[in-house]
Amino acid sequence: MKDYSIGDKTFELYISEAQIQHKIHDLAAQLDTDYAEKDLLIVGILNGSFRFVSDTIKQMSTPCEVEFVKVKSYEGLKSSGNVSVNFFLPAGDYSKKHILLMEDIIDTGHTIQYLIEQIKALNPASLSVATLFYKPEAVQIHLEEKAVAYICFKIENLFIVGYGLDYEGQGRTLNDVYVLKK
Ligand code: 5GP
Ligand code: MG
Repeated sequence: MKDYSIGDKTFELYISEAQIQHKIHDLAAQLDTDYAEKDLLIVGILNGSFRFVSDTIKQMSTPCEVEFVKVKSYEGLKSSGNVSVNFFLPAGDYSKKHILLMEDIIDTGHTIQYLIEQIKALNPASLSVATLFYKPEAVQIHLEEKAVAYICFKIENLFIVGYGLDYEGQGRTLNDVYVLKK
């Protein structure tokens, strides 16, 4: 597989489309089991998770609602630490909804921590997190084990692009995931 360049950076293949789809298939089966008979609301975190949400719901048979929230915390190759909300969930009664937040990647953990707090304030019936990628060495805050119930890939503390994840807006369209070359 050829390297991929964005601006002055070069990326090489890290995780293939087939590996991703395999994990998503297993995740969807697990969600079908865990959310059977529950009023499920999937909340995707934009922009990075749009493909993850889309491919996961294609494999699920449990009916559910889907919403998106948009936040930003990353500048270039680094997490900025301060999370800014672009848009959030519409006002309403969430007390009977089982909410599953879907994130592309948990790095320092600040974004997901912030959203967990915001969504808990809506008093949903339950709240869980599914993330496609998780960087154990980068997480800076204490995330309850139960809070992030679904992790598809634990990865090294490296910068990746592809399958929804970008570098300076580019790379989201790649079907495989690439890692920044050292
Ligand atoms: P955190 O708040 O956990 O530090 O960062 C979470 C957000 O930073 C993710 O939703 C994602 O948008 C971005 N991010 C973290 N690590 C990476 C990475 O390796 N590559 C890309 N493209 N974005 C990342
Ligand atoms: Mg993101």
